[in-house]
Amino acid sequence: MTSDNNTARPMIGTDLAADMVAQAAVRAKKLQDETGVQPCLAAVLVGDDPASATYVRMKQNRSKKAGIGSVSVVLPASTTTEELVAELTRLSNDPTVHGILLQHPVPAQIDERAAFEAIAPAKDVDGVTMHSFAAMAFGEPGFRSCTPGGILRLLQTYDVPLSGAHAVVIGRSPILGKPAGMLLLASNATVTYTHSRTKGLPALVRQADIVVAAVGKPNFVRGEWLKPGAVVVDAGYNEGNVGDVHAEEAAAVASLLTPVPGGVGPMTIALLLEQTVDAAEAQNARS
Ligand code: NAP
Repeated sequence: MTSDNNTARPMIGTDLAADMVAQAAVRAKKLQDETGVQPCLAAVLVGDDPASATYVRMKQNRSKKAGIGSVSVVLPASTTTEELVAELTRLSNDPTVHGILLQHPVPAQIDERAAFEAIAPAKDVDGVTMHSFAAMAFGEPGFRSCTPGGILRLLQTYDVPLSGAHAVVIGRSPILGKPAGMLLLASNATVTYTHSRTKGLPALVRQADIVVAAVGKPNFVRGEWLKPGAVVVDAGYNEGNVGDVHAEEAAAVASLLTPVPGGVGPMTIALLLEQTVDAAEAQNARS
């Protein structure tokens, strides 16, 4: 039950993510001690968008702290699809690189899907290829898209019942909304996808036991849209550390709510590093 002064319990990603990174670091060291192979993540950045450059730098700093090597490839904003595909193919064939991250978004002239598909599935640690998407859709093992995979890990850690729950996902982007819904479906949730053409969004959200907001609009989801006691995951990250959910209003209605920052964000990087170590171990076992 909720009341006017209900305050949702925060679903904090920071500590869980720190644990995941610490465990990835232990496994990275073990692999290196036993085989001499250091897990290595290649990050590819096209253009000079400052936010993207910051994200890549953050991911590389965390990698370093976890004992994961990193290679940085920065290409000019004028790069063509063919040039980017050639670079990603080169990295896919480089035995010293175990995971590849292409920072999204790429400049408009590039066919992003063609670029993602140039990443070898065995190195798709950011979970962006069709191969990884199919594994998520079928509920098979494979690399998860990092933000949706991090969201699922957070929900499981906070013992949120997924089987039979009604989850409403707001947003259907290929890196976030769509795979988040697929992972929830694979966990036996009943999933409703919503997007910019959805009619009557507040009424749909009001039916949700679990809401995943991945819209890219600050304070978009209002408290009055929520069913009392709903679990609310705010994947949004807008200027000024503002999420896609109106945090104050939602806290008065929801039972669990991810803070922004400190909720979904740290989980994304943690899963990226965990999956890079997974990839290095698997590639080493095969060679
Ligand atoms: P995106 O590619 O721009 O997709 C936004 C989605 O929201 C689209 O599917 C769009 O619908 C939908 N949408 C837009 N306006 C809507 C409306 N009025 N009603 C319902 N749906 C609407 O964004 P994204 O990459 O998925 O990112 C979403 C948010 O997550 C952003 O705030 C981003 O910063 C954040 N994010 C966070 C992390 C993290 O690590 N925490 C990682 C990635 C992204 P259509 O498909 O119809 O256009």
